Amino acid sequence: MKPRLSFRGLVVLGCLVVVTATLLFTALFLENIIRDHMVEQARKSLTGQLALLGELVGERWRPGQGVRATDALADDLGRILGLRVTLIAPDGEVLGDSRVAAAELSGLDNHGYRPEVKAALAGGVGGSLRHSATLDLDLMYAATCLKKDGRTVLVARLALPLAQVEKTLAALRRLIFIAVLLGLAFSLVVAYLAAGRISRPVRELTEATAAIAEGDLSRRLRRYASHEIGDLGRTFDHMADRLQEKIAEITSARDQLRAILGGMVEGVLVTDHEGMIIMANQALIDLLELEGDPVGCTTAEVVRSAQLLQAVREALEYGRPGAVDIRVLGTTTRFLEAQVAGLSEAGGGGVVVVFHDVTERASLEQMRRDFVANVSHELRTPLTAIQAAVETLLDSALEDPAYARRFAEVILRHGRRLTALVRDLLTLSQVESGEGQDMSQELDPAELAHTVLESLSDQAHRRGVELSLKVAPQLPKVAGNANQLEAALINLLDNAVKYCGPDGAVELAIDQQGGWVRFKVTDNGPGIAAEHLPRLFERFYRVERDRSRRLGGTGLGLAIVKHIAQAHGGRVEVDSRVGQGSVFTLWVPTARRAALKVVPS
Ligand code: ADP
Repeated sequence: MKPRLSFRGLVVLGCLVVVTATLLFTALFLENIIRDHMVEQARKSLTGQLALLGELVGERWRPGQGVRATDALADDLGRILGLRVTLIAPDGEVLGDSRVAAAELSGLDNHGYRPEVKAALAGGVGGSLRHSATLDLDLMYAATCLKKDGRTVLVARLALPLAQVEKTLAALRRLIFIAVLLGLAFSLVVAYLAAGRISRPVRELTEATAAIAEGDLSRRLRRYASHEIGDLGRTFDHMADRLQEKIAEITSARDQLRAILGGMVEGVLVTDHEGMIIMANQALIDLLELEGDPVGCTTAEVVRSAQLLQAVREALEYGRPGAVDIRVLGTTTRFLEAQVAGLSEAGGGGVVVVFHDVTERASLEQMRRDFVANVSHELRTPLTAIQAAVETLLDSALEDPAYARRFAEVILRHGRRLTALVRDLLTLSQVESGEGQDMSQELDPAELAHTVLESLSDQAHRRGVELSLKVAPQLPKVAGNANQLEAALINLLDNAVKYCGPDGAVELAIDQQGGWVRFKVTDNGPGIAAEHLPRLFERFYRVERDRSRRLGGTGLGLAIVKHIAQAHGGRVEVDSRVGQGSVFTLWVPTARRAALKVVPS
């Protein structure tokens, strides 16, 4: 990772660079200006001294004067002026020099080519700033001509060592260096403190932002800096307040929505504009028997129904609402009615699908259809038989009394069957509707049993079946309708007598089990195979259709018993094995239990 420089570090570094550059440039400029100024001053002073030298040489030097005397004059003048004085012949030969011994003069170069000498010879005052090879020093030279009769006879040259200028400049440089260091240190301290005043609130702001991003919505700055970042902090706190309010609103709306969806019986599924599921409630998961939350799946992955997918597509593309019926094959087959509606753009542009479980309605519908078909079928058989018998009678049999009697008996038998069928249908419909039925009578179970047994004793006797009653002592009363309970018991006992055949034995045993009175009808008849037991209480369900018909059964008896048991808040059970007889048990709540309105288990 690239090393990161803090804001403070950046400011201090920037300041360091800017201040150093500024001070260095300033120092360089300043040194140059001062140097120029000092050199100019030296030049002016040298020019003044040169004029004086000119006069002194004019007074004290005579043409033809020997080198020794000229050099002595140069030494003198050099002492007087405190400068190096060189006297040069017009041809460039050095005649005297205050800094060079007379004996060494002959060894010197020809000075006629020195710039200041050349300039002086050319007619002016020559000046030059250069290094003296002779003295190994930086010197400022100025030269002038001494004329006699309009002819140059001597060139006088002054040389000022620039060591003083350099010394002054070095002192100045030292001063500038110290000033640069001080200025730098001062500006760095100021930059450091100023950057700190900016970076601290920025850091606090960063920390608070990070905390809010992590979910700590209560985090605020509270302390605000006095500069613009203080305003930023104040705005930040205000924004955080608003954010917290909005999130609280959204959370409560979401919780409400979840509670509503969770409490719905209908399954609800919401998709985004691409058909991906973004919300589903528990009812949907249960209805479709999904293994987990379907959020993130497509509708096709969750419901395998081409019609529904078509409806979802239409709602997504054209916003067209639709309704489709689908069948879900799970542990049990369910019938669902799905209503599909498109969501507005503001709602995300997806679709919402609401699934209503219409399994019960569908199965009721199916039961109704089956029932009508069964009733029609049950009615048609005796009616056809009666019609055929009557037609035969009318055709010819009336003349033959023996035939006539046989057909009359057929008509009577089927007439009875019709009557029994209509009676059972009526009973069933009365029990189901519950209309006009007083269900709050307090009844003595033993009395009920006696009445029922009395009405069946003849039939049992005729069929050679032994009918017995066993009543537990001190039975509590049951609440209900006497006619209905009698009808239920008659149906159970009648079946037992009918199906157990001659030499059979049927027992009605009554006892109390907790808040229930148990009526147990046991016979030693043929018994019922296990596969029939689950459907035994359905309307028109018979184990042996022909035997039942022969015995005058309608196939409705046990259905009536089941409905009567339910109407009383009770239940009926069967336990039977082929060859070992059957036990039908009717559970009726005691009057006390019924009064407490305990929900039947
Ligand atoms: P049904 O009028 O035919 O008797 P039910 O509804 O009373 O109609 O009984 C339905 C079927 O249950 C009968 O057809 C018969 O096959 C069987 N069943 C009822 N009770 C007994 C019993 N005690 N023993 C053997 N089979 C029985």
